[in-house]
Amino acid sequence: MPAKIIDGQQVAGRIRGEISAAVDDFTAKTGLMPGLGVVLAGDDPASAMYVRMKRRACERVGIRSEARILPSDATQQAVEDAVRAFNDDPAIHGILVQLPLPDQIDEEAALSRISLAKDVDGIHPVNIGRLGMRGREPSFTPATPTGVMILIEETGLSIEGAQAVVIGRSNIVGLPVALMLTNANATVTICHSRTRDLPAVVRRADIVVAAVGRPEFVTGDWLKTGAVVIDVGSNSVPDESSDKGYRYVGDVEFVTARTVAGHITKVPGGVGPMTITMLLANTLKAAQRIAGIDL
Ligand code: NAP
Repeated sequence: MPAKIIDGQQVAGRIRGEISAAVDDFTAKTGLMPGLGVVLAGDDPASAMYVRMKRRACERVGIRSEARILPSDATQQAVEDAVRAFNDDPAIHGILVQLPLPDQIDEEAALSRISLAKDVDGIHPVNIGRLGMRGREPSFTPATPTGVMILIEETGLSIEGAQAVVIGRSNIVGLPVALMLTNANATVTICHSRTRDLPAVVRRADIVVAAVGRPEFVTGDWLKTGAVVIDVGSNSVPDESSDKGYRYVGDVEFVTARTVAGHITKVPGGVGPMTITMLLANTLKAAQRIAGIDL
C-alpha cells in the first residue's frame, strides 16, 4: 500500500487560520498589530524571494512586517545596527535575520544581537544552546524544525522510543531537528557527508528527516517498511515541460519512497508551507508575551 501523504499545505492552512483568529483577538485587546522585523543583507535572489513570501504571509494573517534591506557590501556594524533598531522598536515583536549573510559578516555575532524575547526564528545561539540542554527552555524553537515536528505528530505515531535518523547537521535544520527529536524522547542518529554506509543507517529508522540539499538523494530501497519520511529538501532541477524551465524536488525520491514508507511529505507542499507558518506563530507568541497576554 502506498504511503499516506502528510499534507503540509493543509496542516499549515489550518494553523494559519488559528493564527489569523488569534491575531484579531490580540489586536482587539491591545489596539496593536504584531510586528515582524526582517533584516536582509545582499542581493541573493532566493533570499529576496523568501523575504517577499514572508511579507505576504504576514499580511494575510494581520501581522505587520518591516524589512531593512542592506547592500551586499554591508558592514558588520550596519547589520548589527539594523538588528538593534528592531530590538528598540516597540512596534516590532519578532526579528528575523535572513540567512545566509554576506561572507564579510560574522553571522554568530549578528544573530547574538537579537533580543531573546524577539528571536522568533529561534536561531540565537543562546536559544539553540537551551534547546540542547536538559531542563532549559528556549524562548522560541526554529521555524523549519518546529514544522517538521508538527508534521511527524500529524501521523499520530509515537515519537517516544522511536529510532529517528536525521540526514544533515546544519545549524538551521539538521541540528535543531535532532535536538527536538531527542527532547521528544526519540533515539536519534545524526548523519552527514562523512557517515559510512548511509543507506544501512537510514534503514534502521522509524522516522527519517532528510535535510541534505541533494535532489532525490534518499531512495525507497534505503527505507524501512512503514517509516515516517519528512523531506525538508527544496532543490530546483531543470524541467523543460514546465513554463519556468525548472521544478522543485526534495531530497527524497518520492516515487520509490512512497511505495515503502508509511507516511511521507511531498515537495512542494510538505515542510515548505510549515516554515513560514511557524514564523507567524512565533511572531504572534512574541507579541502576546511582550504585551503580557496569557498564552
Ligand atoms: P546545508 O547547510 O547545506 O547542510 C546540508 C547537510 O547535508 C550537511 O550537514 C551535510 O553534511 C549533509 N550532506 C551533504 N551531502 C551529504 C551526503 N552525500 N551524505 C550525507 N549527508 C550529506 O543545508 P540546509 O540549510 O540544512 O538545507 C538542507 C535542504 O533543506 C536544502 O535543500 C534546503 O533548500 C532545504 N531547506 C528547506 C526549508 C524549507 O522551509 N522547506 C528550509 C531550510 C532548508 P556535512 O555537515 O558533513 O557537510
